[in-house]
Amino acid sequence: MNFGFSPEQEALRKEVLAFIKENLTPGVIAEVEGEEQEVSAGEESAGRKGLARRGPHLSELYRRIGARGWLGITYPKEYGGQGGDRISQYIVEEEFARVGIRVGLVGSGAPAILAAGTEEQKRDFIPRLISGEYSFALGFTEPHAGADLANLRCRAVRDGDEYVINGQKIYTTAAHVATHIYLMARTNTEVPKHDGISIFIFPMDTAGITVRPLVTIQNNPKAPVGTTYGAARTNEVFFDNVRVPKSALLGGENKGWRVGSTGLNLDRVGASRYLISVRRDEDIVNWLKENRHEGNSLGDDPAIRDKIAEMWIEAQVCRLMTMRSMSIVERGGNFTYEGSAEKVWAPEHGTRITEAITQMLGPYGQLMNGSPRTIEKGIFGHNVLGSFQSGINHGSVQIMRDQVARRGLGLPSQRKAQGARK
Ligand SMILES: Cc1cc2nc3c(=O)[nH]c(=O)nc-3n(C[C@H](O)[C@H](O)[C@H](O)COP(=O)(O)OP(=O)(O)OC[C@H]3O[C@@H](n4cnc5c(N)ncnc54)[C@H](O)[C@@H]3O)c2cc1C
Repeated sequence: MNFGFSPEQEALRKEVLAFIKENLTPGVIAEVEGEEQEVSAGEESAGRKGLARRGPHLSELYRRIGARGWLGITYPKEYGGQGGDRISQYIVEEEFARVGIRVGLVGSGAPAILAAGTEEQKRDFIPRLISGEYSFALGFTEPHAGADLANLRCRAVRDGDEYVINGQKIYTTAAHVATHIYLMARTNTEVPKHDGISIFIFPMDTAGITVRPLVTIQNNPKAPVGTTYGAARTNEVFFDNVRVPKSALLGGENKGWRVGSTGLNLDRVGASRYLISVRRDEDIVNWLKENRHEGNSLGDDPAIRDKIAEMWIEAQVCRLMTMRSMSIVERGGNFTYEGSAEKVWAPEHGTRITEAITQMLGPYGQLMNGSPRTIEKGIFGHNVLGSFQSGINHGSVQIMRDQVARRGLGLPSQRKAQGARK
């Protein structure tokens, strides 16, 4: 088994790094920061922004990235991708993610559309998701249906060639800036709960949708740019007699549970998810290197060096788990529990490293943005808060552990196991 990259892949990484060095201009950085702030913004607003929110520098950067063939590498050419391999995608995604530029489609809904969409949906959505013209808010969670998602009540009732949607979603991140929603709704109440769910994809400016801000723990004070889950808001979304055409249905009526779970699992494959936590290891290593003082450097302390080495090893495990997932998907293998295992390890590593960093830096490392004596605008303290969020969203770590136990280890489901003990 060879864990190394091929000479071509190493050459690709060098090319990407050289490109970033040349093209990551102050204008681009300012626009990336503006984009993050817009996602965090507190005012109420409707969706349908898409490319409109990209400034001239970012638009030009994405045009150049596209010209190199680095957008949507693994997607088929007929849908605007490059028909390329996942390791190349990983290398490109990893290097761009480090500087805050998103080139992958992780968490986008695109894998589900490719797997279950009609030809028309694939041709409409995938090229525009790749280019950034479209973006989705994911409308799964409801006030009484989070971990127990199949309990969802948001209703979609067929009326001729349309569906009429009524109900509420909660924690719908980016609903105020996304162009579209990827919505799970109940289409049949007469069958077991998993069998009566469907997925719909439609524009956020459809009549009858109301988006209300829901502030997060990062709202006051606001987290500095680059924080893990630094968004100051997520949203509640209300659907009041929202009419969508039947062509908005993804993967067939009442097939939503299977389509949604396959999509979510595939959406966990990629460099960005693991980098959410591993960037924190890189932050502290870089900070210690940049803050060396003769005879009095934190980086010289054996206890700190020991802890950082321990965390770095965890980070490498995280990276290898991600690469293993990609390799299984690339070979068309049976990808079942691996995404869930990563979704346990990466956020929990994120919590361990961010807490360890604030212990290393002492009390000043825990101060938040805006405090006069804070370190690096408080990013280390804000990252601790964000690390807990990453263990909840996109499937909480407890639910992910259950999936590893059942799908990976073949253990009986929780309910069967409890029944057997009675
Ligand atoms: C920052 C952030 C962003 C989010 N973005 C989105 C989004 O864009 N779209 C969207 O639809 N949702 C989103 N969510 C919602 C997220 O998916 C839910 O919060 C998550 O599924 C948990 O649901 P809940 O909050 O209702 O907790 P609950 O379901 O009430 O669970 C509470 C706790 O109990 C645990 N638990 C529950 N049942 C079990 C069980 N059977 N076994 C073991 N433990 C259990 C859970 O793991 C959790 O720790 C986001 C959440 C956060 C924090």
